[in-house]
Amino acid sequence: MNFDRILIRYGEMALKGKKRNHFESILQRNLKTKLKNFPNTHIKKTRDRMYVLLNGEDPSQVMEKCREVFGIHSMSYAIRVEKNEEELKSAVLLAFEEADGARSFKISAKRSDKNFPINSQDLNPLLGGYVLKNTDGVTVDVHYPDVEIKVDIRTDAAYVTAQDYPGAGGLPVGTTGKSLLLLSGGIDSPVSGYLTMKRGVEIDAIHFHSPPYTSERAKQKVIDLAGELSKFGHKINIHVVPFTAIQQKIQREMPEGYSMTIMRRMMMRISEKLARKEGILSLTTGESLGQVASQTMESMNAINEVTNYPIIRPLVSMDKLEIITIARKIGTYDISIRPYEDCCTVFVPQAPKTKPTREKSTYYESNSDFTNDIQKALDETAVIHVKENQSADQIENDFDELL
Ligand code: ATP
Ligand code: MG
Repeated sequence: MNFDRILIRYGEMALKGKKRNHFESILQRNLKTKLKNFPNTHIKKTRDRMYVLLNGEDPSQVMEKCREVFGIHSMSYAIRVEKNEEELKSAVLLAFEEADGARSFKISAKRSDKNFPINSQDLNPLLGGYVLKNTDGVTVDVHYPDVEIKVDIRTDAAYVTAQDYPGAGGLPVGTTGKSLLLLSGGIDSPVSGYLTMKRGVEIDAIHFHSPPYTSERAKQKVIDLAGELSKFGHKINIHVVPFTAIQQKIQREMPEGYSMTIMRRMMMRISEKLARKEGILSLTTGESLGQVASQTMESMNAINEVTNYPIIRPLVSMDKLEIITIARKIGTYDISIRPYEDCCTVFVPQAPKTKPTREKSTYYESNSDFTNDIQKALDETAVIHVKENQSADQIENDFDELL
């Protein structure tokens, strides 16, 4: 006997009517996409939950995949059995044994099929007794059990549900719009993308690339990072902006102390224009207040002047260690710490101004005209489509063709 389904609960969607239907159908779609490599699975929606019917697929492998789907509050293995004592007993024991290391349990039986001869008060001790008889040193604890096993006797069959596992939380990706993530090769921006996706936001990425100052390795990092992020949102388009000419012009024509601020302002201008073109309504960055020179309050103020687009900064109040913890959890950390040349570090002076002003930034920029350079960078922007489960070689080839 083995579990034949996974019960999916979506707690946070305390929504009503049409909106709820919309959320549920996107969650169902996301689950389906996620389980593409488990072709026998089928997703069944009931009134306020979903089941992944396994049809022979491996329960734990499927659950592992489901953990990456936002919008799921918790999950449990479950099994449908015939309404007879023997089947119920075996199923309950299976559910107990699945809860690794559990020393106590509780059975919660419910009988909506009143024709079933045993009522729920009698079922609890009957099935509980069977678990006790077949285990060692295990007790029943009705108040604080290690695992609660639910038994539901319905008209069509009986359902036994094992312990709860936490899901990824958040909202289904695709329910709250799209944002353009400024994705560098660093630790922060991928985490930022992940947290934005957690709130149901679909992500496109923009990366500023400065060949030959930044190398193949830098390029590969961004592809690999987007690959990891695509686990949480299926596919990510990376818009790769050729940024060398603008950076060289900044280096030539702008005062050294302001080159970083002005470079960031250029990034913001280009990102906003690209977002507008793509119908994307916000930008997301990995900025964290006070972390580096570009992230002082003064810097943020000077950089932000050039756009009135909403900027999502999920990391703004986080400590580096908190960010690293998430990066490790989502699998981006090891990619981010690979050595590489960042377009910013190559061009940025040793001591950038930590207190730039809007007035000076605007004044220095007015001495040169960047309009054509910005337009050219946008015109020459290439798009790479990164999908979950896509082979790295395939993406690599697509990329080489584009650049
Ligand atoms: P990260 O770890 O994300 O690189 P950081 O701590 O290095 O961040 P900065 O270098 O100040 O911080 O960059 C701030 C933000 O600007 C980044 O989080 C990212 O969103 C964006 N950014 C920086 N460089 C690039 C780039 N080459 N392409 C796209 N976005 C970038
Ligand atoms: Mg960086």
